[in-house]
Amino acid sequence: MAEPVIGIDLGTTYSAVGIVEAGFPILLADEGGERLTPSVVWFGPEGVKVGRAALREAPAGRLVRSAKRQMGVRFGEHVEGGLPLVGDTHGGVAFQTLEGPRTPVEVSSVLLGELKRIAEYRLEREVRKAVITVPAYFNNAQRESTKQAGEEAGLEVLRLVAEPTAAALAYGMNKLGESARVAVFDLGGGTFDVSILELRDGIFEVLATGGDTRLGGDDIDAVILDLVKQGAGMSGSALEDPEADGDRLIQEAERVKRELSTKDHVVFRVPFYDGAQSLEVEVSRADLESGAEPLLSRMERICREVLVDAGMEPDEVGAVVMVGGSSRVPAVQKLAEAVFQREPDCSQHPDEAVALGASIQAGIIAGTWREVLLLDVTPLSLGIETLGGLMNVLIPRNTTIPCKVGEMFTNARDGQDSMRVRVLQGERELARDNWELGKFDLSFRSAPRGKARVGVQLSLDENGILEVLARDVEGTGEDVIVRIESAAVDVNEEAVEQMVEESVEHAFEDMNARVFTEAQLKAEELLPAVRVALVEIGSILSEEEQEEIRLAERAVEHALTGSEANVLKRAVERLDQATEVLAARLVEKAIKEV
Ligand code: ADP
Ligand code: MG
Repeated sequence: MAEPVIGIDLGTTYSAVGIVEAGFPILLADEGGERLTPSVVWFGPEGVKVGRAALREAPAGRLVRSAKRQMGVRFGEHVEGGLPLVGDTHGGVAFQTLEGPRTPVEVSSVLLGELKRIAEYRLEREVRKAVITVPAYFNNAQRESTKQAGEEAGLEVLRLVAEPTAAALAYGMNKLGESARVAVFDLGGGTFDVSILELRDGIFEVLATGGDTRLGGDDIDAVILDLVKQGAGMSGSALEDPEADGDRLIQEAERVKRELSTKDHVVFRVPFYDGAQSLEVEVSRADLESGAEPLLSRMERICREVLVDAGMEPDEVGAVVMVGGSSRVPAVQKLAEAVFQREPDCSQHPDEAVALGASIQAGIIAGTWREVLLLDVTPLSLGIETLGGLMNVLIPRNTTIPCKVGEMFTNARDGQDSMRVRVLQGERELARDNWELGKFDLSFRSAPRGKARVGVQLSLDENGILEVLARDVEGTGEDVIVRIESAAVDVNEEAVEQMVEESVEHAFEDMNARVFTEAQLKAEELLPAVRVALVEIGSILSEEEQEEIRLAERAVEHALTGSEANVLKRAVERLDQATEVLAARLVEKAIKEV
């Protein structure tokens, strides 16, 4: 039998592992018959415990939750939550446990090791290869960290698959043959993803994807806690402080939330809270729904953005596939229904769909599943900085990956012999408003301005990992190849969504800045050339022609001191026109001289 390839859903709150067996994807259960493993690790003096075993231990200072939220996050850009965070030696964060700092990669590798162990226990053989899912919004650094965690757990990570894509794969299983566009709405414990995919003759293509890596069921738990706080008339701090008690409160809030998915009223109850007092507050579904309003409107906005990105009207979506444990919340289903104007499809198992899809993808690779192509898209645009500090997009957002795009660049100054290539990610027109994924210098044979030829190529592999190649085409032919790995972490997750928002917000001024800079570059090229030409052959122009050129020249100089993009643009165009006469005369002169 061929070597097994397992599919893993490494969730923020729950994880699962599966495989294709006899042509069908199945999830593998642990010794207790559980198919979902809580994504928590307990670091004790005599070793670590994972999942339910970890939850049975006293949590204080030892239990790490939601490690996925800190994957690939830079220290300083992190958001606190759970155990205190400290910086690790590579600029990332680490959880401060009583056993010392533990990085998110270390914690995730313990989780992945446990899933590998469960698979080996069920399959009764060694497992070394895996497909792991990641949120569609994960950036390069987060993907790399996930891969690294897999490798540290002894797994060869054959592929990283976007979670909504995996869910669609699970959904498409019994719907293949139909031509349809589906929206996948995935609300888990810590992340929210919406994608629109096209399903055609067994081929999936992601048309657009969006989401928020800091929006999920945890936030709904927090709403419940807030309601309880208000109901109990307590000050905020009294409920947040002691970590052990805090944990009991969160667990109770989660239980109440789950019950409110099917009931109208549930009593929040923590006995002997504070040592003596018990805490009892009734929470209604209506209260939860109004408390969750801000969360719901964030979801709504993201859904609308994704529709816009896909260039689709709600009625063009054939089905809205609901996955993720929190998609069980009735208000969330109502919201999906309102945005997409159709009843959401709850046919998939909300907790298992992603892991089943990962297993199908693993089966495709292992050859145990029939062939289906999988195409993902880039969540943000990728490009490099060019002259004047502008962003030059090479790969626009929502481009299907894998992809490869190249463009030629040249030198800005005479005799220049090297160029700084700054790789950027983001939606803004000015380089400085985007994120720098990395930079490097390429040296080339010195050449007059505009004569060197440097090719820059960006390629994104199917895991969403970026490789940048720069080559001195004319001169040395030398290559610089840079793989963007941990350098991509100069970003904070929330900022991904913010980036898209800001690009819309600043669209007007950004465009203005780009137009100005482009006109300015053109002016800097034109002005010296015009001055030289006027001196050399000005005499062969008529008085009016000379005057017009001088006026146009002055208009450009004046506009350069201002900040009006359109004024400068028009002045440059005028100068350009005025000098056409000059260019024509130059040609005539050259002909006469022959
Ligand atoms: P992740 O992919 O982030 O690990 P899951 O898809 O497993 O998350 O979803 C976990 C979340 O789903 C948790 O926040 C959990 O509280 C929530 N959840 C599970 N069951 C229910 C339910 N019946 N009602 C509301 N929320 C639920
Ligand atoms: Mg999930």
